[in-house]
Amino acid sequence: MKSRQSKSGYDLTPLSREAVAALASKLDAEAYNVTQRAGTERPFCGGLSENKKDGVYTCVVCGLPLFSSEHKFESGTGWPSFYSPFDAAHVAQRVDDSGGMVRKEINCARCDAHLGHVFDDGPPPTGSRYCLNSASLKFFEKGTALPPQSRPAQSEETAYFAGGCFWGLEHYFQLGPGVVDATSGYMQGSMDNPSYKQVCGDATGHAETVKVVFDPRRITYRRLLEAFFAMHDPTQKDRQGPDVGSQYRSGVWYANDRQKKETEAFIKELSGTDRYRAKKIVTQVEPAKTFWPAEDYHQDYLEKTGGACHVSNPW
Ligand code: FE
Repeated sequence: MKSRQSKSGYDLTPLSREAVAALASKLDAEAYNVTQRAGTERPFCGGLSENKKDGVYTCVVCGLPLFSSEHKFESGTGWPSFYSPFDAAHVAQRVDDSGGMVRKEINCARCDAHLGHVFDDGPPPTGSRYCLNSASLKFFEKGTALPPQSRPAQSEETAYFAGGCFWGLEHYFQLGPGVVDATSGYMQGSMDNPSYKQVCGDATGHAETVKVVFDPRRITYRRLLEAFFAMHDPTQKDRQGPDVGSQYRSGVWYANDRQKKETEAFIKELSGTDRYRAKKIVTQVEPAKTFWPAEDYHQDYLEKTGGACHVSNPW
């Protein structure tokens, strides 16, 4: 599924039917009837019609912020009313011709929950009246912590690279502009939470891996790939210089489909250059399995020991 973000920075990727069903199963009967069956609560009965506190009104199903107290007004209808949504992209509209009337139904843009209707008899500046069911909303007063699903999308992305001993890779990835954090660990093996000793035994199938958390607005995944391939020799199979064993193999463990495509395209491109024409790139490209952080003494190893490394600065 292609991910979508609103201007205000929220993830609007539509939820699957299964995901919606799982969330809806936790709702009370009234909220379920309103959001999943397009029901309407009786006026003056919902809890939010009279609410005058400052805060944000989120979707009761998926948590997406839908309305804000700053656009709320007293409509006298007995239903919470707003003249504008929190973000126009968060509230979808569709024609509803049920009940012998043609109205505009409003829905959560992320989970498609029924919310209410929008009419053209609202106050300035928009002239719109978004008429809501209290049961479709969850109110968070200003200053209270919002759950993750009600916060802007994570701006950080994660990438995983294996290229021999993780001390050097971790050190230099950490220096990358836009890299938030680099951590040494083990991946792609067969057992949970392996120790360094077990991985060194070469029997668990893990590769020493660096987990790179980065801000894609400041550094591209492509730039990380360039740095990674500059930092190690991708033509060496199951070793890197003096370090021999499958735990030192070269690999990119992709976290999503886009990373997979970018990595494959990059390797293809690199393979066509003079440097790699005679020597084949053996880097494995696999979907990322669980990342197991290495023991504390491996983290920031070069900084702690002042040790040098065969890897040179790729930035
Ligand atoms: Fe929703």
